[in-house]
Amino acid sequence: MKYADVIVDISAEQLDRHFQYRIPKTLEKEVCPGVPVEIPFGAGNKKIRGYVVRVTDKPDYDPKKIKEIFSLCEQGENVENRMIELAVWIRKTYGCTMIQALRTVLPIRQKTERHVAKIIVRTAETGEILSHADEEKRKNHKARERFLRYLSEHEQAEYSSCVKELKLNAAVIKNFEKEGLIRIQDKTASVSMQILGERRNLPILTGEQARVMDEIHREWEEDEPRPILLHGITGSGKTMIYMHLIEEMLRAGKQAILLVPEIALTYQNVQRFCECFQDKVAILHSRLSAGEKAQQFERARNGSASIMIGPRSALFAPFPDLGLIIVDEEQESSYHSEMTPRYHARETAVKRGQLENARVVLGSATPSLEASWRCEKGIYRKVELNCRYGRHGLPAVYITDMREELKAGNRSVFGRQLLTLLGECLDRKEQALLFLNRRGYAGFISCRMCGYVVKCPHCDVSMTMHRDGRLVCHYCGRSKSPVNICPSCGSPYISAFRAGTQQIEELLHKEFPDARILRMDMDTTRHKNDHEQIIRTFSEHQADILIGTQMIVKGHDFPEVTLVGALAADMSLFSADYRSAERTFQLLTQAVGRAGRAEKIGCAVIQTYHPEHYAIEAAAAQDYDAFYQQEIGYRELMGYPPAQSMLAIHVSFGDAERLDMAMEYLRRFLERIARKANAQIIGPADEAVARINDMYRRVIYVKGENEQMLKSLREQTEQYIEINKGFAAMYIQYDFNA
Ligand code: ADP
Ligand code: ZN
Ligand code: ZN
Repeated sequence: MKYADVIVDISAEQLDRHFQYRIPKTLEKEVCPGVPVEIPFGAGNKKIRGYVVRVTDKPDYDPKKIKEIFSLCEQGENVENRMIELAVWIRKTYGCTMIQALRTVLPIRQKTERHVAKIIVRTAETGEILSHADEEKRKNHKARERFLRYLSEHEQAEYSSCVKELKLNAAVIKNFEKEGLIRIQDKTASVSMQILGERRNLPILTGEQARVMDEIHREWEEDEPRPILLHGITGSGKTMIYMHLIEEMLRAGKQAILLVPEIALTYQNVQRFCECFQDKVAILHSRLSAGEKAQQFERARNGSASIMIGPRSALFAPFPDLGLIIVDEEQESSYHSEMTPRYHARETAVKRGQLENARVVLGSATPSLEASWRCEKGIYRKVELNCRYGRHGLPAVYITDMREELKAGNRSVFGRQLLTLLGECLDRKEQALLFLNRRGYAGFISCRMCGYVVKCPHCDVSMTMHRDGRLVCHYCGRSKSPVNICPSCGSPYISAFRAGTQQIEELLHKEFPDARILRMDMDTTRHKNDHEQIIRTFSEHQADILIGTQMIVKGHDFPEVTLVGALAADMSLFSADYRSAERTFQLLTQAVGRAGRAEKIGCAVIQTYHPEHYAIEAAAAQDYDAFYQQEIGYRELMGYPPAQSMLAIHVSFGDAERLDMAMEYLRRFLERIARKANAQIIGPADEAVARINDMYRRVIYVKGENEQMLKSLREQTEQYIEINKGFAAMYIQYDFNA
């Protein structure tokens, strides 16, 4: 006998409440998670509709008391049903429970979170406000007076702080509203109103942009239009294309979703959309409360908004007739969720497009290997924008070989060329960006004399140093003893690669005592607005040099910057995973692109111990195709995605010994089932960070050519883990092609 857990209310408040039903023998094959069924419910056995979330052969109660499913329901045609279909796909692809998948795709509708913050907006002239203030003063109403004086200087005030700090009560505030001095409104409404601005028409496209529109339209006329990859260098007008495509969709009575990395959700970027599409735009960003987010989703559902802009969760906007999904900067790693289910928003967008017959456009200046590879295979269609709008050429790029610097007696982190160019830049009163590439950095070992990096011979990724000095591979778990002499050139200058932004700031002060220096990294951006403050200070040219990690190269436009220095390009080049070259290429290309973005010509310096590495060479030449050809060769040779699929099983637990035992069982189990699937097991190994909060962390990888095989292999693993008591308290996560 098989049993199904069924939920009857998918309004998300009660997703955890499910009821168990017996599956009739005749339906055993068809009943699986995500399927709508008709069931007898309550004392009167009323016939209602529910969704299956789990199938099991073990009943939770006395089998005699369990009712039986009546029948299957037709899959209806509304947005909710399609979202459930998407949830089923997410569950199957990324591995999670049906409930977790539903929680991901169904917008939160919690009653308690309904509360939306209110603000007070001034509606009268300052003079009138002040005369009212004088009157309150005469009456000795101190709180009211202070409130009005505050309003005379500010456009608006937080409702809650007026109540709490100024001790005004609701009736008093209401009275001011009646007198026409203020208006009370929801904070979200105000957020969009502030940035509406004057309505603007869409600019006319350039010849090249118009050609891209044509190409896209031609693909859309096909019977089964493929997703489009819009590959355009920064400033070529991708955003312009997005706006025109969105407008067409709205004119056809459809809706659109624009996914952007969180960092791109800045005032300027969003403003361009708001100016064109006004109150049709709904925006999600991390600063909204759960209630405010729910409100934005509700606007999508009820038709008051037709465009949803936001990071990956915006993908689940419940539009009734979705026409277009755009994923901007599709290569960004923030599209990969770090919580279960660890879905990738780009892949999920393509799936949603398929389910809803909506078009999908992926945009990037440095496309992910996945996207380009699929274009090559004819699964996506590539269209290109090759010219920057109204600007001339790309910056000149110099590569400094740091091995040569050492040989010439320069042991500093700054090469001679960078110092010279910095000096000149400061003399010209222009600005410089110094970018320290710490992305994914985990402590690899390299030789400063010849550039040799210690790599795992089996996985071709850098080995990283542990506290006890041993070198460990985080894919296969192999380790070797510490090295003191470079195996390649015999020099003693072989050690962990270290450099921090703070250290660089101090050194820079010594070199250029008069320069005004700003630093942006994890330390200086702890508080909510630190990030924006630093960006603003630098944009207003109140500083000459900005030093920072990858945060500074993304999405900001500093017109006065004419010099960009990439200080340690190698840091990300040898991070301990197979994407290190790809990330390095992307970051360096973005960094170089920051130089000379307005009227002034710029230049960039890349400092490296590996000037001959293809990621460095291609970034310096701004040659995406050259990079892609090399990198795809490496992926094919080593069997890494996208050439093959790769499943990671992350397991963490407080007791290292029991964890290792469980991993060994897991490995044996996988070995057994992998043989049939023609898949390869790698590991188990320590994660790059092997312990967090006293939880030990291990990972095991499965690589194979057949994606479906890997998915089914994961499902078998899930079942194995579920019935195996040894895993009961362990925390397990799956990652697919991450
Ligand atoms: P991307 O998104 O590829 O970086 P944008 O769409 O932001 O490029 O365009 C870069 C700049 O050029 C923007 O300031 C934009 O306003 C301007 N621009 C691009 N195309 C046009 C156009 N056809 N007409 C007017 N301005 C344009
Ligand atoms: Zn060496
Ligand atoms: Zn290895």
